Amino acid sequence: MLLFKTNNRNNNASLTIDNRIRAGIIGFIIGDALGVPVEFIGRESLKENKIFDMEEYGTHNQPKGTWSDDSSMMLATIDGLINSSLPDIDYVGIMKNFLKWKRDGEFTPFNHVFDIGNATSYALMQYQRNINNDRENDIICGTGDISSNGNGSLMRILPISIYLHTSNIDYKDNKYFEIISKISGMTHSHIYSILGCYIYSIYVSELLKGNDKYVAYHNLQNICSDINIDGIDIYNRIIKNDISKLKEHEIKSSGYVLDTLEASIWCLLTTNNYKEAVLKAVNLGDDTDTVAAITGGIAGILYGYEELPNNWINNIQKKEYVTEITGKFVYKILR
Ligand SMILES: [Mg+2]
Repeated sequence: MLLFKTNNRNNNASLTIDNRIRAGIIGFIIGDALGVPVEFIGRESLKENKIFDMEEYGTHNQPKGTWSDDSSMMLATIDGLINSSLPDIDYVGIMKNFLKWKRDGEFTPFNHVFDIGNATSYALMQYQRNINNDRENDIICGTGDISSNGNGSLMRILPISIYLHTSNIDYKDNKYFEIISKISGMTHSHIYSILGCYIYSIYVSELLKGNDKYVAYHNLQNICSDINIDGIDIYNRIIKNDISKLKEHEIKSSGYVLDTLEASIWCLLTTNNYKEAVLKAVNLGDDTDTVAAITGGIAGILYGYEELPNNWINNIQKKEYVTEITGKFVYKILR
């Protein structure tokens, strides 16, 4: 007989890695779809019209469950990994997938691209000039400019974070950083963007291990306190302080990679379940879809598939396709 009730929500260490990965991918797409109808709407306006559920139309005039560039580029990366001869990542294949997305609307709900970031658009135009060369170095198309530090590479890094976890490459191994740098550098090659992807990936990995979210966070802080790279200091509120102690007005939810990463980790640490985490992210306003997607990725991994609201899973556009490609990805990296 149990003398005390157990709180399964916070006692989820028994989830399988398969479950966590599927929940991370689908949790990411749900977050994106929750944010799409209110993207660019400010926090104060959302306070008067709080988002509690998946809505339709709004900012981009899309039906309910429509996911955007974040999920498209994330799925394009998954497809590239599925078609890679791992452990060799087919970087060229991933980059060509991005181009298929931008040019032909592949990896979208309705074969149509309705949002694309400036740096990503510019990088893919650059790549189009190189495409016939098929040389691996030609894929680094981010300008490397300090002003090109939107969240455009952070928003598509999740499959790489998951793959790196399953491949057992140590965070401190140069290979780990090199893979992140190449993937980010396709559109965002400045060190701030690369470090944002690196920090997120470590957190993803610590959560995939089944750690409690605070244990995972402290491990992340320990690992990052040894990083000796110029630029890491901008992430001090995550690494050196305790981001969960900050008040909402101290958290920005803009498209700047630093703001997005801070907001996502803050939303996870200050809530108690998947639904609460992603709704908190959406209601921060501004870059709602990306902040909620990135929050949804880590919240899915932490809480597991059964915690994703069923009606939201069913609302996702092209649900069968998304579920199938996620299954293929899990099979590919775990077999
Ligand atoms: Mg978007």
